[in-house]
Amino acid sequence: MIGRAERGCFAVFDGERERVPLADLADALLASQKKEWPALTAGCASLESVRLREIGGNGWRVKAQFNPGRIISSGADLDPESIRRRPCFLCADNLPPEQQAIRYREDYLILCNPAPIFPTHWTVAHVRHLPQSLVDHIGIFLRLAADFGSRTTILYNGPSSGASAPDHLHFQAVPAGLMPVEEEILDPLKRVGILRRNGAEISQVAGLGRGILVIEGKEEGSVAAAAGEVTRALGRSTASDGEPPLNLLCTRAGEGWRLILFPRRKHRPDAYFRKGAERRLISPGAVDMGGIIVTPREEDFLALTPDLVRGIFQEVAFDDAAVKTLLDLF
Ligand SMILES: [Zn+2]
Repeated sequence: MIGRAERGCFAVFDGERERVPLADLADALLASQKKEWPALTAGCASLESVRLREIGGNGWRVKAQFNPGRIISSGADLDPESIRRRPCFLCADNLPPEQQAIRYREDYLILCNPAPIFPTHWTVAHVRHLPQSLVDHIGIFLRLAADFGSRTTILYNGPSSGASAPDHLHFQAVPAGLMPVEEEILDPLKRVGILRRNGAEISQVAGLGRGILVIEGKEEGSVAAAAGEVTRALGRSTASDGEPPLNLLCTRAGEGWRLILFPRRKHRPDAYFRKGAERRLISPGAVDMGGIIVTPREEDFLALTPDLVRGIFQEVAFDDAAVKTLLDLF
């Protein structure tokens, strides 16, 4: 595993010696890979022609993105047996021969995503085949956001709420500010409840069609502890096996961090599993919860209405009342 990773090593970022900021290094990796890896070149080129539609609800808005390149991810079988049988696409031995990586803080590889949703879209995968888990790795998640800096948002999809490799620990890095929710949660009128915890703040954001918690703070330890507290409370309220289903966005905000957390009820809406014209191939992960609904098929792209989006959010996510109940558990 390591052998292939070393052969494809574009650069090393260990937080100590490098002179180039991580975001610049990742940009350089992408520029280099676009020249050398035809599948990535094609993926990035197809993104330039994707269509977008704005869909507005009552106090919220999302963008639908018609992106045929995402069919493999949206259509993937994610049941444990299918996952066990397929070769893991994040293990270094299975990476395409053209793929290069930034070795990040020893244990991670920063990789260009060949089926991007954004003009810059990286996957940050652990070098070992470890299961997806937030609580055990929240420290490196926050460090990644700090190392990339404020122009990048780091994403986490729980193993049962959008991760296309639930068996291989990974995050994603995308441009900050392109998901509508990133701006919407800044509206002070939408902040309806704030808990303070050792310098970190946990607040509920209401009125955006799906339940949202925001965690903000300047101390890494306090932010990590607050995220852990929310995750444990969610675990108690959902009685889930293992990690409670959630999606998380994280950006560097000044000298601190801002996390946007979406507690989930389930991964895919019922319409995903219907047959024929009734089917809606929409498989919501962090990006969709952030307000960019990815539709690999044109019929789903055209079919989306405010009611349909609201219905999907209601089905797969907590609503505002459920988030309030969760906060009352603290
Ligand atoms: Zn793997």
